Amino acid sequence: MKICVDPGHGMSNRSPNVFDTGCTHTENGFLFREADIVLKYGLTLKDILRARDIDVFMTRDDNTDQAPVGRRAQNAKNAGCDKFVSIHVNDVEDDSAHGLEVLYNDNADKALAQKMQDALIAATKLHDRHIKHRPNLAVLKFDGPAVLVELGFIANDGDRAVFLNPQMREKICVTIADVITAS
Ligand SMILES: [Zn+2]
Repeated sequence: MKICVDPGHGMSNRSPNVFDTGCTHTENGFLFREADIVLKYGLTLKDILRARDIDVFMTRDDNTDQAPVGRRAQNAKNAGCDKFVSIHVNDVEDDSAHGLEVLYNDNADKALAQKMQDALIAATKLHDRHIKHRPNLAVLKFDGPAVLVELGFIANDGDRAVFLNPQMREKICVTIADVITAS
């Protein structure tokens, strides 16, 4: 089994040689960037999977890797991946929005998305925003099981306290690894 781990955003995601930070939030003068947060998640998930002797392909390993969003699914396929998991942080204007959701593209992945959602809600106790069908997300157009995890909302203090916590990051990545490798 080979898993593609896709930390969202990053260099050349939307435009060549432009760094896409993803969503951002400033709190007490500190700028939080989705691209940095989800890269840490991706690298943690990679380490957990490799420790289980599972092959991993990263769509990007750092903030300089060229990772156009329209090529990620194909790059994963070319690398021989069987499954694809993308990691993001959510954003809206309204700071009251909170919780975790798992997105899927193909109807065949609905059961996997639901398992991922249930396991992550149990692990984090975050608000359950339920799974969402997103047939037009380019990154999910992977030929094989694929889900996208939205860890929580960057502007919500409660969500951020959860997903920025290193112990919680480890727990979330163990949970993602358990679900993606089980099915
Ligand atoms: Zn994102």
